[in-house]
Amino acid sequence: MGPATSIGIVGGGQLAWMLAQAARRRGVELHVQTPGPQDPAVGLASSVVQAEVRDVAATRELASRCSAISFENEWVDLEGLKALAADGVPFVPDLEALRPLVCKRSQRELLNRFNLPSPAWFPLDRVMELPEVPAAGEDPAAASAPPATEAPPQLPQGFAYPLMAKAASGGYDGKGTAVLRSDADLEALLERVEASNWIVEEFVAFDLELAVVAARDQMGDVVCLPVVQTHQHQQVCDWVLAPYEANHALQQAVRNMAASLLTALNYVGVLSIELFYGPRGLMINELAPRTHNSGHYSIEACDLSQFDLQLLAVSGQQLREPALQAPGALMVNLLGFEQRSAEDPLAAYELQRQALAALPDAHLHWYGKAGASVGRKLGHVTLLLQQQDPAARRQEAMQRLEQVRQIWPLPPGSDAGQSS
Ligand code: ADP
Repeated sequence: MGPATSIGIVGGGQLAWMLAQAARRRGVELHVQTPGPQDPAVGLASSVVQAEVRDVAATRELASRCSAISFENEWVDLEGLKALAADGVPFVPDLEALRPLVCKRSQRELLNRFNLPSPAWFPLDRVMELPEVPAAGEDPAAASAPPATEAPPQLPQGFAYPLMAKAASGGYDGKGTAVLRSDADLEALLERVEASNWIVEEFVAFDLELAVVAARDQMGDVVCLPVVQTHQHQQVCDWVLAPYEANHALQQAVRNMAASLLTALNYVGVLSIELFYGPRGLMINELAPRTHNSGHYSIEACDLSQFDLQLLAVSGQQLREPALQAPGALMVNLLGFEQRSAEDPLAAYELQRQALAALPDAHLHWYGKAGASVGRKLGHVTLLLQQQDPAARRQEAMQRLEQVRQIWPLPPGSDAGQSS
């Protein structure tokens, strides 16, 4: 396939918006499918199919305008889209490559299959499986045991509290996760959720979280952005420091994981990997088959951003390794910190935006979302760092984070002092 110059994106949020900005710079047409007329990407798209992202007929319409289709996120109707693929609609990545990535349970199965390090886990409904009953006559107590249907939930062998429960699909930014500290927590969770859609993981005592954005082209070449450190606050990404001053072996280990995953899946496009790093080495927490919050810094800090990589890969072009064009960068997410109604003239946080944009070497990205509830990702700011020495650069980053915090506090209920 020759280079596609018109790309369709299912989704119209901030990731599609930043992709549309990169598309403009590169002279690529970008069409989007998104439900809201005010959605971030609408104003920049070459055309819009206004429909829910799971509306397959709308995706067919989108495909009629484009030479390749990709996705803003993994909440797609793979079964429904099969018919389009059968009719020759070129999805990049391919639907089969996406299949194991669209839910956390199939991701865990995939990682186990590939022997890639990841937290031990079990499907939540396993706790309701009947415990093994000793054969009659072996255990006199068995006769008086309560009927199996009333048996309390039991953790599988080898697991102990605390545990991390997660919705297999539909969760993001910590929505759809629950820490379990006791049987009571487990029972409360079972009351509240559909057990067949949840998994439970060991709680990992990591030192810090890392992430990498990788991409593979149609020729099979894999490239990676630098490994970064991500910092979450109440399970939502708060800031990202690039690059993480990893030693060569760690960088290589991360790249090898990315390359083996992308190659084994025959995946074309950008894929992001979130990792835990600590006493047990590296563990993969999550895969995102798309551009990712942890790669936003690349817009200013690299000579090819994650959005450039996505456009190049989806349009069938060859990728080259992106390089940093500054010693480093700090990206800070701007989460709504006050309840503001859409009609409120202050809803757009105008003063804070001006103050952030005026910081030296700062690049503000405001997503223009309608509605600004507390905790919602409304934008981000990337600050380019000057220090060459990793320790000095980290110190510089923490000072710059402090400057941002003076203007833009964390949402309430937060422990603002936690910034390591
Ligand atoms: P989401 O898809 O909602 O972002 P994640 O699985 O990425 O959910 O989890 C959000 C955050 O919760 C992670 O970045 C990490 O800080 C924490 N977390 C997730 N899984 C575990 C785990 N097994 N052990 C300890 N902390 C975890």
